[in-house]
Parts: sequence; structure tokens; C-alpha cells
Amino acid sequence: MSLFAAVEMAPRDPILGLNEQFNADPNPAKVNLGVGVYFDENGKLPLLKCVAEAERAMLADPKARGYLPIDGIAAYDKAVQGLVFGADSAVLAEKRVATVQAIGGTGGLKIGADFLKRLNPGARVLISDPSWENHRALFSNAGFQVETYPYFDAANLGVNFEGMLAALNSAAAGTVVVLHACCHNPTGYDLTPVQWSQVVEVVKARGLVAFLDMAYQGFGEGIAEDGAVIQQFLASGLNFFVSTSFSKSFSLYGERVGALSVVCASGEEASRVLSQLKIVIRTNYSNPPTHGAQVVATVLSSPALRALWEEELAGMRLRIRAMRSALVSALQAAGVSQDLSFVTRQKGMFSYSGLSAAQMQRLRSEFGIYGVDSGRICVAALNEKNLPAVAAAMAAVLR
Ligand code: PLP
Repeated sequence: MSLFAAVEMAPRDPILGLNEQFNADPNPAKVNLGVGVYFDENGKLPLLKCVAEAERAMLADPKARGYLPIDGIAAYDKAVQGLVFGADSAVLAEKRVATVQAIGGTGGLKIGADFLKRLNPGARVLISDPSWENHRALFSNAGFQVETYPYFDAANLGVNFEGMLAALNSAAAGTVVVLHACCHNPTGYDLTPVQWSQVVEVVKARGLVAFLDMAYQGFGEGIAEDGAVIQQFLASGLNFFVSTSFSKSFSLYGERVGALSVVCASGEEASRVLSQLKIVIRTNYSNPPTHGAQVVATVLSSPALRALWEEELAGMRLRIRAMRSALVSALQAAGVSQDLSFVTRQKGMFSYSGLSAAQMQRLRSEFGIYGVDSGRICVAALNEKNLPAVAAAMAAVLR
């Protein structure tokens, strides 16, 4: 009998499964709005100019590829810290942040989860309802019991803030609360600065542990604006976690460039925490890969390349915003009478379109428009060429 005879087939990843279905669809007019990836106005995955320039500079001065330190490229970790906390922030001057290079934002979350499990094995983890699909799986796999706090308010198309606050208020001390720092995935609805300050207050009052997932910095309102919640947490004096992803903001999905930062009470504490993060990394994959992080470090530490990156990131942000307005206008022009202004209030790559699972399935089977059954569509995959067909199909299923 085979060792694997009793191994069960795991369920397919819903989004990747959707991709497979999309690839197999012979419809020439098909549009993939499922996966969370930014495509440019020609429907192509962009190679940012700042990345190409950094790579040219790196190629002109090629380096041997030794093992990196366990916590990654020092200049990269420093650049991440500057971006997340502000280069002049007191917390960095006081060396109170332990930052490690990670394999994408996912890797940052997992290193944090593994460290938290050692720190407080009995803690529960709260994620938003709904959340990025992998949050639950990742924290469950790290050994945590994962529950949710209310987030999406379907009736009022926004955040159920009262529900969220009430759930945090009744959470036990030590509960880990995973928060989307900006551009909530999948709903697109973010908290206001005033609501954030109330969350910070509850986290502090209840002794909760905030874990901020920042996968879309720069896609909402701007780099500093999207990072404003970090400043609120810093001002509170709390210890907290931040995972960073450059997959979207540098269009470096396949390079797996991310980080984890842990804000500690003192420099000495940060060195102890760093030593533990290194153990987690060492026993998982030993040390991180070189190329992507070197690209990001090169861009962020060169004033000219950084300015170019900010310009390109703003270009992505503004194009998504233009697509939101264009989608609403096209739907209205197609005779959809519902108030769709919520689409333009949402932030980041996604829109919770309000379409039901049945309507999403009709979009797929009748029109070749692929979105997630929850109604989530990736606005960053819309462009002037595919938008008319998408709007016509959405209008048809909304009628
Ligand atoms: N967190 C959220 C909320 C995301 O949407 C994503 C990617 O879609 C990630 C983390 C993971 O990012 P990465 O691809 O860098 O691992």
C-alpha cells in the first residue's frame, strides 16, 4: 500500500482555479478580473522603468551571488523601514524596529505568525470578514485559531465599523488582530483616520496585538497617506507588526519581495526580537533571495530612481481611479439605475461590485468576464479596450 494512499485532494485555490478556467476559455473577448494584479492600459503586466534602470545598473556592475544574511540585504531593510515608518522617525533613530527581508508580503506575514506562535501559543487571531483568502489559511497553518471581526457592511456599502469595534472590544488580551493598512482586499473599503484612531485606542486598552498588512502602499491615496495608520500606531507607543509587499507597488510579483517589521519598546528588545525572527527564517528557508530586494533597495536609495518610482506608482494609482469612474459612467450609460458611486469610493485594486455569486457566474459563462464569486473584481485589470464589454456584460446581469 502506498504511503500516500490516504492523502486527500486539497481544495483548489479559488483565485488560481479561476485563472485556470480563464486560460481554458476559448472566448476571444474574455477578460480576467479575478487575480489581484495591475495591468497597464494595454492589458500588459508592466515592467516599471525604475526597475529596468536599476537592473541595467546592476548588470553593468555584476556581482557574485553569495548567501545573504538571514535577515536579508541591510540596505533593503533600511529602505523598507524608511518607507513604512518615515526615514526621520524617532522609532528608527532609537533602533526600535526589527525588520527582515521576506519572501513577498506572504512571507512577512508567515514569519510574523510563526514568531507570534512561539511568543503566545494560546492567542487567537482575528481577521476581517471578509479578508484576503490567505490570511485565514496562513494563520491557521501557523497553529492559531482564526476568527473574524465584522468588516463589510453589505446594507450600507461600507465598513461595519461599529461591529468591528465591538468585536475588538470583546477580544481577550493578547489576541492578534490582522488589519489591512490600506486598500482593503477584497472590499476596497478603508477606515477613515478618525476610525483608525479608535481602533488604535481599543487595541491599546484591550492589550491586543496589531498586525498591519501593507500590501498596497501607494495604491490608495499616496505613499505617505496610505502609511498614515502606521504613524497613528507609532504615536500610541504600542508594539506592533507590519508586513510589507512590493509585489504590486514595484510590479515585481514573481521576485517575491517583501518584509516584516516589528516595533519594539527599546533597541535592546528589537535585537532580541530580531534574533528570534532570524531563527524562524533560518529553520524555514535559511536566507532570502538576492535579486528582487536588490532592485528595490537600488530604486529606493537613489533619489532619481525613487522619484521615477513614485511617478510610476502614481500613474498606476491614477489609472485605476480613472477606470473606476469610467466603469460607473459606462454602467450608467448602459441604463443601470442603481447608485454605483460606491465604486469610486473604494480604494486600491479591487471593487466589491455588489454582484451576487449567480451574477458573477453569468458574467463568466455568458460573457467570458472572470471575477470572484464574492463579487470582487480587479479594477486594475480594466482598460479602455476591455471596459465597454465588461460594462455591457455587468449591465446585462444587473438588469
Ligand atoms: N496581503 C494582502 C492583503 C494581499 O492582497 C496580498 C496579495 O495579493 C498579499 C498580502 C501577499 O503579497 P505577496 O504577493 O507579496 O506575497
